[in-house]
Amino acid sequence: MSRRLLLALATFATAAAALPSAQALPYDLLIRNARIVDGTGSPWYRGHVAVRGDTIVAVGPMVDGAAARVIDATGLVVSPGFIDLHTHARRGLFEVPTAENYVRQGVTTIFEGPDGGSPVPLAPFLAKVAATRITPNFAMFVGHGSIRSEVVGQIDRPATRDEIQKMQALVEQGMRDGAFGLSSGLFYVPGAFAPTEEVIELAAVAGRMGGIYISHMRDEASKVVDSVRETIRIGEEGGLPAQITHHKIIGKAYWGRSADTLRLVDEARARGVDATIDQYPYTASSTSVQAALWPKWAQEGGRDAIVARLKDPATRATISAESAVIIRDERGGGDARNVQIASCDWDASLAGKTLADVRDMRGLPATLDGAADAAIWIVEQGGCSGIFHAIGEEDLVRILRHPATMVGSDGEVPIFGQASPHPRSYGTFARVLGFYVREKGVITLEEAVRKMAAFPAQRTGLTDRGVLRPGMKADIAVFDPATVKDMATFEQPHQYAVGVSYVVINGDVAFERGAVTAARPGRVLYGPGYTKK
Ligand SMILES: [Zn+2]
Repeated sequence: MSRRLLLALATFATAAAALPSAQALPYDLLIRNARIVDGTGSPWYRGHVAVRGDTIVAVGPMVDGAAARVIDATGLVVSPGFIDLHTHARRGLFEVPTAENYVRQGVTTIFEGPDGGSPVPLAPFLAKVAATRITPNFAMFVGHGSIRSEVVGQIDRPATRDEIQKMQALVEQGMRDGAFGLSSGLFYVPGAFAPTEEVIELAAVAGRMGGIYISHMRDEASKVVDSVRETIRIGEEGGLPAQITHHKIIGKAYWGRSADTLRLVDEARARGVDATIDQYPYTASSTSVQAALWPKWAQEGGRDAIVARLKDPATRATISAESAVIIRDERGGGDARNVQIASCDWDASLAGKTLADVRDMRGLPATLDGAADAAIWIVEQGGCSGIFHAIGEEDLVRILRHPATMVGSDGEVPIFGQASPHPRSYGTFARVLGFYVREKGVITLEEAVRKMAAFPAQRTGLTDRGVLRPGMKADIAVFDPATVKDMATFEQPHQYAVGVSYVVINGDVAFERGAVTAARPGRVLYGPGYTKK
């Protein structure tokens, strides 16, 4: 017997003697008698899932052996934990590190930094997240808008060659810090001031390092078709996958155009462009009142410039007139009652009121012009976030059915009971399973799980998550397909989803018996260009 083998045997004997008996069992966790929906889209089958440490070690109908903990999942579905690649979880994550609005829906990984907005640089922020005991896994994109803001400012002009190189260096740094790609918000200032070519040059850097491009497009209303073309072009010429994030059609006059946008995606994919989509299952969007209802030029230069601009009566009148058109045709949904205030730092009592309420409170005329002036007043006071009911259900369903569409919430981590946030933070994944799968039959359960787990994992290169298979990280959701349901509404948003029984993250039970556990097993996940310092 070799010296090395003897040593190994001795070490084994010592370790075995020192450990409590549970540690000698083959599995730490065994979920038995489940309907397994494995994430691939294949039909469910009955079986068991076994976990050791942070890893799935066995899945199938014949998994045998003792486990430290057994969960009987008779009547329940076991699926991979859901991956949400569009969140604004920075809002609230440090106050509520359990992110339970997400975990209670079966979400086990959240991505931040969408819409062109991220910390720059990323490394200190990710270190802060890593030092915080959080429940779900956490990953990031680096934001084009934030980088442009840093290098060019909030100014409406193309970047110089020197500035483009500086921005490229920041994209590269973001990828080295662990980003999974470049996000853009070309709808927002300052992203809106960037020509397509600039975005291509920056996206190419992320692409060379294995990242994707994910975009809140320049326009989701009258120019939505052009915007899809632009997104596809950025992916095609930048040489990287391109994702249309929270795809929707804004404005009644444009409803139905998803037939055209999806055709463009199909055509792109047919010629080899890796274009994909994500979506939240609601017919209202949410962002700042200013971004939603104001023309871009009026938002140039930051807060001081905006306040100064409003002091000039002629400019103010022009902003009001253009905003009235946006309220009529786009995010205003044609009526001030379709704009709801989500939160205002300077007056918490406005949360839940509509723009029509604010207009009436200010004694403004009950017209679109009056609504536009109410919006100006809101921006002047410091701005509010709003909810905008202007998305067509028919488009939502058509987009959800498309095989290249995955699910992403665009939500945040709300402080329970505070303000009047969009219900998507509490309900997105449960709504797809309860309303669109069970009640409406728009897609199958297996397809929904694919869109919420395997597909976003594949998109972001998380090769060890998103599917129930031996060797994968043990991120698992256990739910009742007959009762899973979103409870949050626009009127009463602070309601957790129901029907999820257990959530396992990195092998630890993070949610059970209606409550998040003390485990907080979430990790920071680093992207393909990550270089450890
Ligand atoms: Zn967005």
